[in-house]
Amino acid sequence: MSYQLSYDEDSRLIISGLECDCPCEHNLPEQDIYVGNGILNNIARYVRRRKLGTHCVLVADNITWEVAGRRVCELLRADGVEVTPCVIRRDGPMEPDERAVGEVFLALQPDTEFLVSVGSGSITDTTRVNAKRCGLPMVCVGTAPSMDGYTSVVCPLTYRGLKIHRPGNCPDIIVCDIDVLKTAPLEMVCSGVGDVLGKYIAKADWIIGSIINDEAYCPTCGQIVTDAVNKLVDNVDEIRTKSDKGIRILIEALLLSGMTIMIIGHTRAVASIEHNIAHYWEMMQMMRGKKPPQHGASVGVTTLMVWPLFTRFMTEDLSRLDLEKIKAGRISREDRVKWMRYAYGEEGGNTIMSENEGDFLSWEEQERRIRRAQERFEDIRACIADMPPFEKIYGAMERLGAQMKPADCGVDAELVNLSMHCAKDYRTRYTLFKTLDECGLLEDYLKDYPFEWKP
Ligand SMILES: [Zn+2]
Ligand SMILES: [Zn+2]
Repeated sequence: MSYQLSYDEDSRLIISGLECDCPCEHNLPEQDIYVGNGILNNIARYVRRRKLGTHCVLVADNITWEVAGRRVCELLRADGVEVTPCVIRRDGPMEPDERAVGEVFLALQPDTEFLVSVGSGSITDTTRVNAKRCGLPMVCVGTAPSMDGYTSVVCPLTYRGLKIHRPGNCPDIIVCDIDVLKTAPLEMVCSGVGDVLGKYIAKADWIIGSIINDEAYCPTCGQIVTDAVNKLVDNVDEIRTKSDKGIRILIEALLLSGMTIMIIGHTRAVASIEHNIAHYWEMMQMMRGKKPPQHGASVGVTTLMVWPLFTRFMTEDLSRLDLEKIKAGRISREDRVKWMRYAYGEEGGNTIMSENEGDFLSWEEQERRIRRAQERFEDIRACIADMPPFEKIYGAMERLGAQMKPADCGVDAELVNLSMHCAKDYRTRYTLFKTLDECGLLEDYLKDYPFEWKP
């Protein structure tokens, strides 16, 4: 297992020497990802190198237009590219909703050859869904180190007030100019850090999945992400002051996380139970007509919430489990259907159940998993022991001035408690929460999150 990170003379981030004998298929990313100071000035050359064409639509909102959009527009025009700007104007934060997506669509011309997004999550998603639908390549100019989705192929969008996901294009070129990223508000920087810290949980859950269910675990991707996150935790003060070094470390962690998705073709290394809970908050807040929390910020908070359950599990004695009692306490298939509809709503619950049919376990399968957890407990313990101390992560977020509690994200106790109980059911992806549930331990582990539900 090995890999090397380097930059070429053009500030292009390169992963090379990837050697891994895990069962996953590995593909090295083909995108051009640039990170450096002042590199925005090279944008026309980057576009030419990739032969994207001479006619583009440039998407920004009124804030990112001022930050970098206008300059990108001028630089491309000076190089002979015909640019149609599409500046989405909003009073508050821009939502990636049908109106924004439609605005971009209507800005497209018959001769448009590529799209350029100038912004962070919302702008990139609004642009990439159009790029996908129109079969056009895309360039992304990042304006904030706030999330790991620059390299993503899935767009979280808002449609009629609800969260939906649609396929999108991964940008062919991603330009992260540190001088631009530094101008992002500290709140967005904190959000990026929160998204990255969740990777410790994702990694532990992935390894636990490989122990319990023989899931393929890629140690190289695990290592790429861990190296980047460790570096980030050790440099929180640089990040807080938005120094060149700090911002580079943060954006590298976000980009490399995203790159593991391209290498192995799934998000196992970057999202698990902490993302389930954060998505649930987002979904429910929107359904209730409330402002959804910022993605990365809420992932940081949910990471702090689930972490103590992992540490506690290290002291567990699985030999004390009473299998007859666990069997007798199982939820029936009928009650599970009711539970899913209660927790996720009629439509949401039905969709999750139809997409994850194997999630209602037979007793034989549950028993197999319990026995595996008992046999391999030392391996599970070792992977949790490998996580940094909780205090270190907590301290890092505190020093940064990040959101620490659900209330900081505008989420009330009732939603928090429910989310902790239903997050394990959001998808098939294996997590320690499923181990706890299958071993009949979850209710006890969640007693700080009291929640009563009767079928
Ligand atoms: Zn995330
Ligand atoms: Zn591998």
